[in-house]
Formats: sequence, C-alpha cells, structure tokens
Amino acid sequence: MTSLTAIPLISRLSSKIIRILGCNPGPMTLQGTNTYLVGTGCKRVLIDAGDEHTSGEYAKLLGSVLSEEGATIEHLVVTHWHHDHMGGVPAVQRLLESMESRLATVWKYPRATGEAEEDTHRDWRQLEDGQVVAVEGASLRTVHTPGHTTDHACLLLEEEQALFSGDCILGETSAVFEDLHDYMLSLRKILAVGSALIYPGHGPVVSDPNSKIRAYIDHRSKREAEILDFLTSRRGPCVVMDIVESMYKDTLRALWPAAAVNVNNHLMKLLKENRIVCENDKWSIG
Ligand SMILES: [Zn+2]
Repeated sequence: MTSLTAIPLISRLSSKIIRILGCNPGPMTLQGTNTYLVGTGCKRVLIDAGDEHTSGEYAKLLGSVLSEEGATIEHLVVTHWHHDHMGGVPAVQRLLESMESRLATVWKYPRATGEAEEDTHRDWRQLEDGQVVAVEGASLRTVHTPGHTTDHACLLLEEEQALFSGDCILGETSAVFEDLHDYMLSLRKILAVGSALIYPGHGPVVSDPNSKIRAYIDHRSKREAEILDFLTSRRGPCVVMDIVESMYKDTLRALWPAAAVNVNNHLMKLLKENRIVCENDKWSIG
C-alpha cells in the first residue's frame, strides 16, 4: 500500500475548525475518520463521530478539546450512515452527559425509501437539502450528495466557502460508491458549489477542490473506458472478478472486494445505457 500522509490526532485548521481523528485507521478508513468541531463560541457543531469500536479513545480526545475550548456540542451532523461516521454518536452523547452538558441534536439525511435505517441509531433528526445548521461563527449548508450512499450529505461552511465532503471526496485514494449515476451527478453538484477548500471524511485537507473533483470525474470515465476495452478484447462473456483481476492487479488484494463493487457499478451503468449485456452474471459487449 502506498504510504499515507500522517495526520495528527488533533489539529486546528482555521479559526473556526478543529479536526479530531476517530482513532480508527484501516484499509478502508485510511488514517481513520476525520471529525470536525466547527464554530467559535461555547456551542459548536461536530461533523461525524468516528467508529464505535474506537469511541472510548475518541471521546477522550474530544473531551480534552472541548474542555480546552470551554465549549460543548449543540449539533452533531453525520454525513452518512456508515459505522465509521455514525458509530461514535452514543459515546459523544455519553461524554456530553458526563460533562453535565445538554445532549447534542443529531442530524442526518434520510436513506432512500425502502432502505432500512440502522436500528441502533434511531435518535436523529432529518436533514433537508439546503438546510443550514448554524452556531456562533459558522453556518453549515447541507448539500445532498447521494452516490457513496443514498443518505450522503456534504456541508458547506459558508463563512469560508469550505466543503466538508464526507466520503464523497477523500483526501487520498479514490472513493467507493453504491450508485455511479448518482455519484457522478453529486460530483458535478459539488463542482458547481465552487468550494475553496475541501475537508474530507478521510485523509488530508484538499487545497485544490476543483482539480480534485475533475480528476475524480476523469478517473471514473477512464475506468469506464477500460472496462469497455476489456469486454471488447475478450472473446466470451466474463464475470466481475475477471475484470477486477485484470484492472486492479497492482492493488492490494484486501481492496479487491471494494474494487469489485466499483466495477459492478460501472457495469450496471453501462447496462442501463444499453452498451453491454448481462446473462447469468456474465458480461459482454452486445
Ligand atoms: Zn462511508
């Protein structure tokens, strides 16, 4: 695996933003989940809460930051339902309780109709596209960006024109997604927002958002062309793992299942566009 930029456990990124690592590094979470404490007053917004299995360690870090700042958390906004962003929510609430602070109001965009929400995290309010969550010094505008998951939302800090991108854009490596069609639309949506900086859910700050987002769009278009080339060059139909083994031969095997999900998404998109055919889970050029 290529080496990742070292990220300190706690970093002040601007007069309004402190980044606290979720203490959960791994192949999918890179250096761990970035959580961000935003605002300037005694009531702040926390964006994402890290994972449950490292929430004890994370809550200690967060507690030390809150004490030093003389602040508490008014709103906890979760970018999407995945465990490494939402799993730490109960630990954050327990921390606030132990500090004799009011519990935070937890916000999240709802998942698509028909998708079950996680049973353990029912206690949150529904975000709406365009909704602003505000505290002293910070107004965060919700930008619904489905694709990685159906409930994914980015948050634009209007005072700094900075975008908290969750898993829609990562600081390093490329993001995975559930629905490529929606994901590509979301990339174009955040490109139109015209942010000056991106604070991703994983990895370092992105200082040139527009070229990064364009690179993501180009990367997907290139992958799509590669898949079409592969299918064209093959005589007979093939399964998803044939494509993964060929295209991701230089990638860590542990990441192949995630790569297979990506390849499958491309195939579904191409199938929708009638550019390929699928019979008994085998794919070929029509
Ligand atoms: Zn995620």
